Amino acid sequence: MKILVVGGAGYIGSHMVKHLLRAGHSVVVADNFSTGYRNAVPDCCACVELDIANSEALDTLFATHSFEVVFHFASFTQVGESIEQPGKYYSNNLSATLTLLQTMLRFDVKRFIFSSTAAVYGNPQTTPIDEDHPKQPINPYGRSKLMVEQVLEDLDQAHDLKSVSLRYFNAAGADPEGTLGERHDPETHLIPLILQAASGRRSEITIFGNDYDTPDGTCIRDYIHVSDLVDAHARALDFIIEQKCSATFNLGNGTGFSVRQVIDTARRITGKNIQIREAARRAGDPARLVADAHRARDQLGWQPRNSSLEQIIEDAWHWEQQYPWS
Ligand code: UDP
Repeated sequence: MKILVVGGAGYIGSHMVKHLLRAGHSVVVADNFSTGYRNAVPDCCACVELDIANSEALDTLFATHSFEVVFHFASFTQVGESIEQPGKYYSNNLSATLTLLQTMLRFDVKRFIFSSTAAVYGNPQTTPIDEDHPKQPINPYGRSKLMVEQVLEDLDQAHDLKSVSLRYFNAAGADPEGTLGERHDPETHLIPLILQAASGRRSEITIFGNDYDTPDGTCIRDYIHVSDLVDAHARALDFIIEQKCSATFNLGNGTGFSVRQVIDTARRITGKNIQIREAARRAGDPARLVADAHRARDQLGWQPRNSSLEQIIEDAWHWEQQYPWS
């Protein structure tokens, strides 16, 4: 198929591009490189520097290629930043996404695979969280994603645009072949920061909050390997083609690990004595976020295969040890 991957130079997008190319699809990456890396996209793949807020540039791109489906990974994803700069989040994650969707409609492209997030749920009222759980996001990041999901429902009703929204829990790990991985700047995510402490790139890992209502007092999260996320997207593509309907799926492992458990596992795998510092809670962190991903298992036939915490950390450690990345 002829596929546009927006944000294909970023962490999850670049893993997706690798998979799609290997599956024989014709892929075009569009990325503004604000957080992505050109060298995360293989040379054999068409790659356009483009901001999806730019309607004219999108028109040119869509006039050049007859896309059959669009994957959209190009979002800002930092909760804390979204609280400090909500306009940045609504502008890119909502408004620019709407510009992309309107371009799709103008060119009669009606299949859309969207990176959503567990942040749409806010503080969980029940756990594990299924897709019908109330959606009450507690920060602009989560709200911007929920708003796009709502826009997508309306566009399906009005224009028959079919979409699959995939609500990621904690994306983690790296390409098992070692060619791609996480490289956010600044890095804010737990596992890469722990591994930076293990490799000596930072002196310690800070634990944000030790007084949560969890067995060891630290937050519990559901870590899902990036390769399992990619597999779910590939299945979402089959789903949208075969079922011709829109849907929303949680993507998580169904098992939660505390911050301390993650650090202990990283110590075991790396053999390094990772220093910790205990600090106050980080604003906006719910105590426990664990997915009920039965819908994805039932309807997509999806089953996480690489998402043991050990596998996630092993692959991320392999990637970290290649630093500096070329
Ligand atoms: N966390 C931490 N220290 C860090 C970064 C994260 O203790 O340096 C905690 C954070 O408070 C949360 C969990 O690790 O409970 C996962 O955070 P991350 O930023 O990786 O993902 P999020 O759950 O915010 O999407």
